[in-house]
Amino acid sequence: MAEANSSHVAIIPSPGIGHLIPLVELAKRLVDNHGFTVTFVIPGDSPPSKAQRSVLNSLPSSIASFFLPPADLSDVPSTARIETRISLTVTRSNPALRELFRSLSAEKRLQVVLVVDIFGTDAFDVAIEFHVSPYIFYASNANVLTFLLHLPMLDETVSCEFRDLIEPVMIPGCIPITGKDFVDPCQDRNDDSYKWLLHNVKRFKEAEGILVNSFIDLEPNTIKILQEPAPDKPPVYPIGPLVNSGSYDANVHDEYKCLNWLDSQPFGSVQYVSFGSGGTLTCEQFNELAFGLAESGKRFIWVIRSPSGIASSSYFNPHSQTDPFSFLPQGFLDQTKEKGLVVGSWAPQTQILTHTSVGGFLTHCGWNSTLESIVNGIPLIAWPLYAEQKMNALLLVGEDGIVGREEVVRVLKEGAIRDDGSVWLRVLRDDGFSTKSLNEVSLKWRAHQRKIDQE
Ligand code: UDP
Repeated sequence: MAEANSSHVAIIPSPGIGHLIPLVELAKRLVDNHGFTVTFVIPGDSPPSKAQRSVLNSLPSSIASFFLPPADLSDVPSTARIETRISLTVTRSNPALRELFRSLSAEKRLQVVLVVDIFGTDAFDVAIEFHVSPYIFYASNANVLTFLLHLPMLDETVSCEFRDLIEPVMIPGCIPITGKDFVDPCQDRNDDSYKWLLHNVKRFKEAEGILVNSFIDLEPNTIKILQEPAPDKPPVYPIGPLVNSGSYDANVHDEYKCLNWLDSQPFGSVQYVSFGSGGTLTCEQFNELAFGLAESGKRFIWVIRSPSGIASSSYFNPHSQTDPFSFLPQGFLDQTKEKGLVVGSWAPQTQILTHTSVGGFLTHCGWNSTLESIVNGIPLIAWPLYAEQKMNALLLVGEDGIVGREEVVRVLKEGAIRDDGSVWLRVLRDDGFSTKSLNEVSLKWRAHQRKIDQE
């Protein structure tokens, strides 16, 4: 698994494409720019999804992946929220991880660093046993990270449900936030998903450092405050934007179709409409959006999934089990065929957002999608659904409840102009802030390697 003389890093992505994709970009950077060897150690409770396989298949051969045996979640009710399933998957994979580390250690090939994401902190138990340095990669932004670092304090000081708080909560460095906009698992403190979130964020302090997928120009004040030393807060390293470099496959019909269609559209004219790797709409909302798109007369690519009453219902498997096209209003495809393209379940988002025909992105505000728009200078229409998406929403937060077709038409028609997002990328130049941050982390990891070598 490890090449001789190269420090070896293990990365555990907790289930979810939105966690895997930026970790893959981190791995590439560690290999290409810092000479590390990286292995993905992948927990799951079922065989990998098509989307997960496609991301992993696109890895360069220098990055290995190792699938842990599926964790047994048969006792977990089907109604359990995603955060509960994700955390349990990682926690229950600890015996298999321990076994792996034991055999690697016996062969003197053990990793020096373990990077987990927000729901992976229980793997620290194994890392610490084997003197592997524990790190967190926080795949969302500094604002939400700041909030999460304060969650244990909020948990102790607030006795009611957060959503019943009348005043917005003020946290230094964080935008004022009302309880109903807190991240999804905080909406019901009796639910296991809240307990798991709290459990994980309480363990953040055990990390040697937290890498965050944001950058100084985007969140200057928040990052400045996050980097001030404080008890129980590990050093924070903003290393973003790490954005999907994509794995376009021209043999996949839908991928080819999207790009071919975009080639024939005018500059900046197309609205890309997508709710990430797992977002789904209710039947009623799906219909309203369809009518709104048709009535707006705007050009669009819409990635559809079969509707569901649970917004995150496709989280573990982005591809709809039933035919999503059968849910479109009658005549919709005919009515919009001159101006719109509808794609089932999955689209080559990286290629779409870099295409010059795209002029806007109606997004669920997953952080990867948000960053991908920002670096391409694409104006966003924010339509948050779950997780921390409400906190990510920057431009427009729809009223609670159904977003009517009139609202869809209004925001599509207002559309801002695409600009040159490349201004943000200066943070990733050799002398840029994010590059320096990752250099600092890399020096710490090498120092840890030397310490281990001397023992
Ligand atoms: N993505 C994609 N095609 C799709 C849907 C999503 O390539 O049809 C990629 C997208 O580019 C992004 C990631 O999947 O990198 C989704 O992450 P995000 O944080 O935006 O949302 P999540 O899926 O985690 O809710």
